[in-house]
Order: sequence, then C-alpha cells, then structure tokens
Amino acid sequence: MARLVMKFGGSSVADIDRIQNVARHVKREVDAGHQVAVVVSAMAGATNKLVEFCRAAAVLHDQREYDTVVASGEQVTSGLLAIALQALGIPARSWQGWQIPIVTSDQHGSARILDIDGSRLVACFEAGQVAVIAGFQGIHKETGRITTLGRGGSDTSAVALAAAVKADRCDIYTDVDGVYTTDPRVVPKARRLDKIAFEEMLEMASLGAKVMQVRSIELGMTHNVRIFVRSSFDKPEDIDPHRPPPGTLICDETEIMEHEVVTGIAFSRDEAQIAIRNVADRPGIAAAIFGPLSDANINVDMIVQNVSPDGKTTDLTFTVTAADFERAKATIEKARDSIGFARLDTAAEVSKVSVIGVGMRSHAGVAASAFRALAERGVNIRAITTSEIKFSLLIDAAFTELAVRTLHSLYGLDKS
Ligand code: ADP
Ligand code: ASP
Ligand code: MG
Repeated sequence: MARLVMKFGGSSVADIDRIQNVARHVKREVDAGHQVAVVVSAMAGATNKLVEFCRAAAVLHDQREYDTVVASGEQVTSGLLAIALQALGIPARSWQGWQIPIVTSDQHGSARILDIDGSRLVACFEAGQVAVIAGFQGIHKETGRITTLGRGGSDTSAVALAAAVKADRCDIYTDVDGVYTTDPRVVPKARRLDKIAFEEMLEMASLGAKVMQVRSIELGMTHNVRIFVRSSFDKPEDIDPHRPPPGTLICDETEIMEHEVVTGIAFSRDEAQIAIRNVADRPGIAAAIFGPLSDANINVDMIVQNVSPDGKTTDLTFTVTAADFERAKATIEKARDSIGFARLDTAAEVSKVSVIGVGMRSHAGVAASAFRALAERGVNIRAITTSEIKFSLLIDAAFTELAVRTLHSLYGLDKS
C-alpha cells in the first residue's frame, strides 16, 4: 500500500465527462489498495474568465478580492469530483484550502505556502475516505482571508500536501504524458524524458516550460517528494496495473544514471527589453537604474552593458517580463534626472530561449555551438546569460520556433 497525492490540471477536469474519467483514475488507485488524496484545478479556462471578470469590474482592483474571486474555480471542481467519486461508491469529500488549513503568506495573487496541517488528511486516509482538495488556494491566518498561489499553483498545492502527509509519490496528471525535451506542442519531434533532475526541472519551469509551477519543484526538491508527471487522458480501464505507465519522474540527480549534456530547451515569449542609451560610465550608475526598479518590485533578468557608439558613454540594456514592461519604462523615465541618459529604446517582441542540462557542468563549448547554429539561420542574439547548468538567449520573438527547433536538433534531442 502506498500513500498518493494525485493532482489533475484544468484540461483534465474541463467538463463532466472528464471529471468522471478522473474519478475512475482515482478509483483505480483506491481499488489497488492505496491511500489517496486528490488535488484539482479549476475547469480549463475558468480561472482566465474569473481574472477577466475582476479586470472588467475595475482595472485596478483589491488583490484580496481578486483572490476571493479566482479561488472559486477550484471550489467547483473539488465538489464535482467528490460527487463523481461518491457515484462510483467511493467515500469522498471536498476540502477548501482554509479547511485543511493550507496557511500562506499574505502576498495575495502569489502567496507562498508557509504551513500545512496534515492531520485532517491523515484522518481521511485512516477512515478510507478520499479527500478532494481545491488546489491553488490557501488562507492567511492573521487576516483569515483566502489567498491564491499564482497561476499554475495547483501543482504547488499538490506537492506541498504530499510533503505534509509524507506521501510516497505525487502524481501530476495533465494533458501531456510527461515532461518533454521541449514543449511538444511547438516541437513535434520533442522526446519524453523518463526522468529529470529537480534542478533541471526547476530551470525548465522558471525559463518558461509551464508544465509544472516553479514553486512546486522548489518544494519537491526541499522535501524530496517524488513527482511523477503523466497523462489523465488515458482510459483508466486500459491501464495495465503491472506495467509502469508512461510518464516522467522528477527526482534527485543521483537517481539518474546517465546524463546527456543537454536535457531540454525552454522558451518564453513573455519578455521585453529596455535599452538605456548614452549613460555616463561612472560608479553608482547601476544602482541609480536598478534601485528604483527593485523598489517598484520589478524583477530584472538579463543585463548587458556596452560602449555607446559615441565611445564616451555606455548603453545599458536589460529585460523584464512583459507584464512589468510598462511599469519598468515609467520607472526609468521617472528616474531620468538621477540616471542621466539620451533616450530609451524598447522592444516588446522578444523572446528568451534557454538550453538546460546538468551535463553542462562538465562540458565546455555547449553555448558556442548554439551561437554558430543560430547565426547560420540568420537569428540575431540580443543578449546572453549563462549559469552552471543553463544558458539563455534573447532573440526576436518571430524567430522563437526556428531557434528552438534548431537547438533541439543541434543537441540531439529530436526523437528518431
Ligand atoms: P495543467 O492544466 O494540467 O496544469 P498546463 O497547461 O499547466 O497543464 O501544463 C501542461 C502543458 O505544458 C502542456 O500542454 C504543454 O504544452 C506545456 N509544456 C511546456 N513545456 C513542456 C515540456 N517541456 N514538457 C511537457 N509539456 C510542456
Ligand atoms: N486554476 C489555476 C490557474 O489556472 C491554478 C492551476 O490550474 O494550477 O492558474
Ligand atoms: Mg498547470
């Protein structure tokens, strides 16, 4: 007997048929003798609709009320799945974040889980009842208000609950049958990985692969939760319980025998670039620029500094997320007097392509071959950053797919 947390994403609970399919997946595990808790997302599209309602009600709105609204999508699916399970004769009940409770910080809209009391779930396991928990939501204890964990946050709810109840595994059921070398919707030749190390998955997720929320991988790594990504679209009746299902295990690096140099490629179109032209090259200039951005809670990613065409001043170029673009421009304009610059050049149509692999630690020249391959295809690189197990390239958004496919082939990731 194992203790399992099963998580089902939005497309897996998109309508009543799919919810009934999920119920049969849960029954399959219960019938196999396992203790099961389930985490659900809102129905596909539901959260977007709720976010849109908030915007329509007032462009600038109270984030606490935003959380009240958007958390409701998961309340619906938790109740519906409990009903579907009961209809199959499985004792089940729904739980909202505050009922567990899942205690979070008060950063409404992107709260962090601080503590989970697993005792109610353990009582369910012992009573043979399936707990169906609304993902994505928690409660801030001092104010008693509902919080949400940021988009894609049900992954984090699931991994955190798995850690809290010391589950043997956290199974993430989604609309793809595992983690691929890159987004299989963009590169049909992408290959499913049998295993991926936490560190690599963390980079993949933070650099744009939305298959898992970043925070869920951080938690998985800290608490050593075995996370298995698999498809919810398989018919439960077709699954052979004696054979391992297709999927990807996210696990400790030491569990992976052989490492390719490159494991995967991630990309994000959610980028914008700001170049500050003709800045005086003097001590304190970086502080004058990045201080106000940091005060405004704007995350700066890639930074490039080079000599301006006049040879006397410097150009400072950096990237922010598309969501922060307008605010970042306004912040720099406001600090114009203390910075002192000739003009701002901006580009919103840029994307970041990243190559990831723990094998890069021990291999030189991995990035150099990418530069050559992209140059041959006429893709201009606007900025570069590197770290121990990845490098990222900023390019024009129009070239995203070409660049991803080129690098995917270059590093031998295409399936045969
Ligand atoms: P869910 O609603 O189940 O949480 P998501 O839409 O959040 O599902 O994540 C699954 C999607 O992530 C896939 O449909 C796929 O397009 C995308 N994706 C991006 N990169 C990858 C990758 N490397 N491997 C698998 N899926 C990926
Ligand atoms: N429903 C939330 C979202 O769409 C959380 C999730 O699906 O993980 O972002
Ligand atoms: Mg998701």
